[in-house]
Amino acid sequence: MFNLVIVGSGCAGNTAAIYAARANLKPLVVKGHHPGGQLSLTTLVENFPGFPEGINGPDLVENIKKQAQTFGAEFKEGAVVEADLSKRPFRLNIEGDWIETRTLIIASGASARWLGLPNEQNLIGHGVSSCATCDGFFYRDKKIMVVGGGDSAMEEANFLTRFGREVALVHRRDQFRASKIMLDRARNNPKITFVLNTVVEDVFDASKGLVTGARLRNGVTGKVWEQEVDGFFVAIGHIPNTAVFRGQIETDADGYVISKSGARTNIPGVFHAGDVQDRVYRQAVTASGMGCMAAMEAERFLEAEGH
Ligand code: NAP
Repeated sequence: MFNLVIVGSGCAGNTAAIYAARANLKPLVVKGHHPGGQLSLTTLVENFPGFPEGINGPDLVENIKKQAQTFGAEFKEGAVVEADLSKRPFRLNIEGDWIETRTLIIASGASARWLGLPNEQNLIGHGVSSCATCDGFFYRDKKIMVVGGGDSAMEEANFLTRFGREVALVHRRDQFRASKIMLDRARNNPKITFVLNTVVEDVFDASKGLVTGARLRNGVTGKVWEQEVDGFFVAIGHIPNTAVFRGQIETDADGYVISKSGARTNIPGVFHAGDVQDRVYRQAVTASGMGCMAAMEAERFLEAEGH
């Protein structure tokens, strides 16, 4: 029987583990399908406080993990495939291995939706990105492409004009999901060019280890062409990793956990941290902050119950 199980080993989960381990809760972190979370997909992180020279994403999240292990947090390979949160102790099936816990922190994150292009995954962190706030700075005076037609795409395209020489916004239709105000802001930005009714067929050049261009196809005219770009930002939404808790934890229509103030969910003893609840900020530092909050709430919950 664990006092606390933390599902997810990104910034949120690993930071929760530091706080919980220092409070002697002996937490177990279930690493999940993508150990290290989204930071493990990035290269240099320049906006996490405390690293004036920046730090590599995978190193940052590994350091947070080591810090948690120093205080006694345990890490377990595998992902939760089934959960019973109907009564306490909560029961979790970790790929065939059932465990019980008094409290739970869901820090399983949200995965960026990718286009599924042949060379996309090879170039993530080398010109392909899903986070303008994280990576925009690297494209000063460069040519940037943003894919998507929602608020995220408009926001990222606008933000990226602070750095890039020009931003091409590629969208597969000529109608937008983006709100009018965000769309108008992008339309009125002289650095943004709209490339509509157009899909991306591939991004290259994986053999050089960096992005040099993309092949596009206009769905109406059938025209195919190659366009030079240095930075390729995919902004077609995120998928919160909450499927395994569906029907038990209250979520919104897209699957994001609904917060009941602080780090609380609708189930007493179950807390949330990081992108699994956050569709707005999605930063390493905010995820870490939420991890801290969730661990402190779990600790108080256990104390109130006499554990
Ligand atoms: P979204 O509204 O679901 O938009 C996703 C966009 O990506 C759509 O234009 C969609 O095209 C396109 N897309 C999806 N799959 C694609 C594919 N395989 N190939 C090409 N294009 C694809 O997602 P979002 O922009 O991330 O926004 C999510 C939510 O967060 C929304 O409620 C939004 O309002 C909110 N948000 C708010 C703010 C803000 O207010 N500051 C900022 C960001 C996000 P189709 O339209 O053709 O389906």
